[in-house]
Amino acid sequence: MKNTAERIRLLPKYLFAEIDKKVKKAQQKGIDVIKLGIGDPDSPTPDYIIRRMQEEVANPANHTYPPDEGVQSFKEAVADYYRRRHGVELDPESEVMPLIGSKEGIAHISFCFTDPGDVNLVPDPGYPVYGIGTLFAGGEAYEMPLLEENGFLPDLKSIPAETARRAKLLFLNYPNNPTGAVATPDFFEAVAAFARQNDLLVCHDAAYSEIAFDDYRPPSFLETAGGKDVCIEFGSLSKTFNMTGWRIGYAVGKAAAVEALYRFKTNIDSGLFKAVQHAGLEAFTNPQMEPFLKELREKYQRRRDIVVQALQEAGWPLQAPRATFYVWAPVPRGFFTSEEFVSHLLEETGLVVTPGRGFGRHGEGYFRIALTVDEERLKEAMERLQGAVEYR
Ligand SMILES: *Cc1c(COP(=O)(O)O)cnc(C)c1O
Repeated sequence: MKNTAERIRLLPKYLFAEIDKKVKKAQQKGIDVIKLGIGDPDSPTPDYIIRRMQEEVANPANHTYPPDEGVQSFKEAVADYYRRRHGVELDPESEVMPLIGSKEGIAHISFCFTDPGDVNLVPDPGYPVYGIGTLFAGGEAYEMPLLEENGFLPDLKSIPAETARRAKLLFLNYPNNPTGAVATPDFFEAVAAFARQNDLLVCHDAAYSEIAFDDYRPPSFLETAGGKDVCIEFGSLSKTFNMTGWRIGYAVGKAAAVEALYRFKTNIDSGLFKAVQHAGLEAFTNPQMEPFLKELREKYQRRRDIVVQALQEAGWPLQAPRATFYVWAPVPRGFFTSEEFVSHLLEETGLVVTPGRGFGRHGEGYFRIALTVDEERLKEAMERLQGAVEYR
């Protein structure tokens, strides 16, 4: 066999591989490890969705290839949800496309728009897929630093005019992973104006749109005036309904972008299992949706409060995030890198958190705690942390 393609060789080392090795070592030494690293919900998918799936799996009509453009009733359910939740009208035919998880669409959108030599604007720190998709398509990622002093929003004015003019895509993600930051409607308006000015497509990753606290409800980018003319928004059922393993999400917004994604996907995959699309429809249309989400938000909010309070007591200058199930905190002084701090924490306390560097250069100096373990374990984790480190 000859060597692998450059796109495989150029891939950065998998962020969690090194940590996984250290975790295994710690566990072999008999340390009780508490994993606050990966953001994968710890609770099951709600029963009402599982029951629908069980029925749909048994229906032979669902055993054939799904329609390329997606199951119409699922697309209608997504459009309905956008009308209810965001006051945004979507045409299910041309402005909604089911995805095999939103990551799939986020990775593929670069193949639809980015030619070799083109630039995509990518937030740093950020979900690695924006940059990797860009790289795979042969494009170049221009990093937009997300700095604390700017509320972890990119500073559009700092992007060189020439770069902005060349850019094809601008990736955004609010509520934000890893920083927990949220965006205001004003910021979205400024982004829309910037996109019109530079004729680029905004790719908004809205994976955490329903994970928000204290009565805060994150806006869709499509609520912005003219938003649908400049934006494709990626939604996911993964975090909203504890469905990470089911692989279902969707893209909505600018019809020409949805159409490009559709054309790309028809040539690569054959869509999502029809039963999963029917289960997804149930997720959004069943009257149990809202009570379920209320409980989900309350659960993460209680966990958030445990972690934020403990960190504040230990000296961290920290505000409670208004959304996502992450707490993004600065590394105390005395550690050279976020990775060094994370290793120290694991060795001293058995806690696994994610080094900020894993999300990009500007993640250095921070670490991320995922609120995906129950309250009792989280309290235990915070006691251990308080016993071992303080913020200086
Ligand atoms: C979890 C997550 C997703 C969701 O991915 P799926 O493929 O829909 O499971 C997308 N973006 C971000 C930032 C995430 O953290």
